[in-house]
Amino acid sequence: MKTLCTIVGIKAVSAGLLALALCAPVMAATPWQKITHPVAGTPEAIGSYANGCQVGAQPLPLNSPDYQVMRTDQRRYFGQPDLLAFITRLGTQAQQKGLGTMLVGDMAMPAGGRFSSGHASHQSGLDVDIWLQLPRQRWSEQMLLKPQPIDLVSANGKSIVPSQWQPRIETLIKMAAQDKEVVRIFVNPAIKQQLCLDAGTDREWLHKVRPWFGHRAHMHVRLRCPVGNLECENQAPPPPGDGCGAELQSWFLPPKPGSGTSVKKEPPPLPPSCQALLDKHVL
Ligand SMILES: [Zn+2]
Repeated sequence: MKTLCTIVGIKAVSAGLLALALCAPVMAATPWQKITHPVAGTPEAIGSYANGCQVGAQPLPLNSPDYQVMRTDQRRYFGQPDLLAFITRLGTQAQQKGLGTMLVGDMAMPAGGRFSSGHASHQSGLDVDIWLQLPRQRWSEQMLLKPQPIDLVSANGKSIVPSQWQPRIETLIKMAAQDKEVVRIFVNPAIKQQLCLDAGTDREWLHKVRPWFGHRAHMHVRLRCPVGNLECENQAPPPPGDGCGAELQSWFLPPKPGSGTSVKKEPPPLPPSCQALLDKHVL
């Protein structure tokens, strides 16, 4: 699984290295940023999460009682109808349970595609970042434009920060994981570890919650390909089980010799339909 951040090829990184944000803004500008409005057509997610695009995307409504949207100036609040429906569903559930207001971060650009910074995936309108804080009072416009993340992971990367950790964060992650459209949720290994510790006997949902670099203040939620989207590529399901055993522990081991050198990969060729879309709208 190498779809989230730009730098891949290292997995057994030390806890210290985990502190480095591997989604650093190192990617070059991409033509997808030039498409400033959704491409008209029947909604469709095309390609994979990390190499795809979208047609018929919709903007997430910015004024909702169920959630608040951050950094709207970046215009990354577009997605497939299934994603919009999921966000509304989860935000409503959070409200009903009295968890607070759900904060929505990046989704996709109007036509999806590769970002210049911040993400390797989020390309086909099926990924969303949701922050792991649930303010009791709605944020002001200004706060939403310059949101302050709360780092939930200790400096050495080995555990969560107890003073910042709240049961309602776990409830939010669990509710998202139990949504039938959700196939994966990425969180920091220390966060996954805490979920494993606290889950008790109801552990089925942990299967979808995957450890990954960064993700110290937000979860990244990924939906399955919408029904009938023939060019949408689903990812192989996570391995069986709750994912709390050896695989999770491997994230906390010291790096193997020689594994610290990361490899930046060239992006793969675009799916033909995405290339055609670019040719028509940009080039
Ligand atoms: Zn993300």
